[in-house]
Amino acid sequence: MEPQSAGGRFEDHVVEQVSAANDIVEIISQYVPLKRAGRHLKACCPFHQEKSPSFMVQPEKQMFHCFGCGVGGDVFSFLMRHENMTFPEALKSLADRAHITLPERRGQREDGGLKDKLYEACQVAADFYHELLMKDAGAPAREYLAKRKISEEIIREFKLGWAPMEWRTLFDHLTRKKFPEALLKQAALIQQSPKGNFYDTFRGRLLFPILNLHNKTIAFGGRLISETQGPSGKQEGPKYLNSPETPIFFKRRELFGLNLAKKYIDREWPNLILVEGYMDFLALYQHGFKNAVATLGTALGEDHVRLMRRFVEEVIVVYDGDKAGEAAALRGLEILLEGGMQVKLVSLPTGEDPDDFLNKRGNDAFDALLKDAKDFFDYKLEALLSRYPRQDALGLSKISREMFETFLKVKDTVMLSEYFKRLSRALQVDENSLRTEYAHFDRKSGPPKERPRESLKAPENVKPAPEELLLLVLMAEVPPFCDRACEELKEIDLLLPVSRELFEYLRKMNEQGKKCTLSGLLTRIPDASYRDQIVAVMASLDDTSEREKILEDCLAKIKQGRFTGRLEELRRQLSLAEKNRNEAEVRKVATEYQELLKRSRDSKKSE
Ligand SMILES: [Zn+2]
Repeated sequence: MEPQSAGGRFEDHVVEQVSAANDIVEIISQYVPLKRAGRHLKACCPFHQEKSPSFMVQPEKQMFHCFGCGVGGDVFSFLMRHENMTFPEALKSLADRAHITLPERRGQREDGGLKDKLYEACQVAADFYHELLMKDAGAPAREYLAKRKISEEIIREFKLGWAPMEWRTLFDHLTRKKFPEALLKQAALIQQSPKGNFYDTFRGRLLFPILNLHNKTIAFGGRLISETQGPSGKQEGPKYLNSPETPIFFKRRELFGLNLAKKYIDREWPNLILVEGYMDFLALYQHGFKNAVATLGTALGEDHVRLMRRFVEEVIVVYDGDKAGEAAALRGLEILLEGGMQVKLVSLPTGEDPDDFLNKRGNDAFDALLKDAKDFFDYKLEALLSRYPRQDALGLSKISREMFETFLKVKDTVMLSEYFKRLSRALQVDENSLRTEYAHFDRKSGPPKERPRESLKAPENVKPAPEELLLLVLMAEVPPFCDRACEELKEIDLLLPVSRELFEYLRKMNEQGKKCTLSGLLTRIPDASYRDQIVAVMASLDDTSEREKILEDCLAKIKQGRFTGRLEELRRQLSLAEKNRNEAEVRKVATEYQELLKRSRDSKKSE
């Protein structure tokens, strides 16, 4: 779930202008065939599987809503969901479509445009390295790519490059183009020796430009080509070398290929394929498995997991045959479980990497492997069973302990209980004794800090009261209702902070005599499920005759809720004051409590 621009980092009028210039029917029609049904248009929902259409577009409100799965929103929400875009990305895309130039966002200029300059330097470097690869100079690297059966098309699409062995090829090129040395150093394109001499970071390497989610080149990965040798006659440096971190490149926050994969994740591919290197990634991509990503030679971290979770809930990890079942490798993947992801594993035959496998056995065989991917639990258990004997007590205890390590990472209690059942069956040990052993193990396994961290937990789904949603929708749609609501209520009377913020926003818009738009409202809601619920309420409120009555009901309910909440608070204060033997306080609070109780009863009677 992706928050929209919280609190309006974009000016309202910009969002409005862009939304007004893009008809929702036109936009959605590009993806889904819409059929007219009365005042609305209908289709089979692109967000869940269904046979009869429950996905509806309302042109007059410029919104969509699915009665099947409950998603809904405006033209921005649609693109965000369908194309896995963030709000700024959707805004930019629709602005471009309508030839609207977006104003610079606040904060963008704070760094004096440094980031933009770094992007530019990296882009020019990528272009230059790519040119070199395609020229005679790049022959050794091209030979290597040919050997690995990487097509010319892929070489061009990914702008692979060649960094010659010389010390200052890129340096000379970029300084001629007036890029300052300091900037190139900051972009980590060049390094400085202790004596102060500049030299290129990458030499004698095949280069893979690393792009961020917005398709900007931010760094490079470089593979040493064995034909190239250093001045000393020896190979220089490690086989793979990545750019060091820069203001635009944080290894732990980037996954190679995610900028492309995010476009291909859909119902056909509801998951990501995680591989370990650039070459494996390219092989998969070239064979049509475009939902792949690769780590950049760093261990998988929390940020990676969070990043992937923006797009998918399931990851299939593809391992080289040699590495399969290694305890250390498996442990490295548990972070995915901790992040609430579903994890499956594929292991290739020993000695083969994805690249070999695809070239030797073809797409269908790989497809079959993916379909057969084993759940992390089964995979680990099988690896352990092949390592330790299940017949003796020591073996059994080793296996169960290793499995418990994984259990500690699983947050989903339903899943955990399923795991206990399966482990009990596999080891032929009674489930209850496993649980007892686990409880003991859990206590011993350390302080609570080792438990899944708060930040990785799925946000608690706080459900807004229906009357709050109804009230806000009515206020947004009918200006006189807004006056009425503001007479009766204050923002504090609403339960959820986001409801309060929306109430304030609607009140202000109404005061200024402005009509609120759906987009204006939705961009203020950071939580996707709240957004869906607001839209669902809008979609269901079609009958105009009952509206006034609905409004009055909502007002009464919210007012009653306000009394209840305040009364509770006073009771709490009262008992505290009594405990502290603060008689003056007791008297004061008790008086207020009784007054409020009376008012609450009166208001009930008058309903
Ligand atoms: Zn749906």
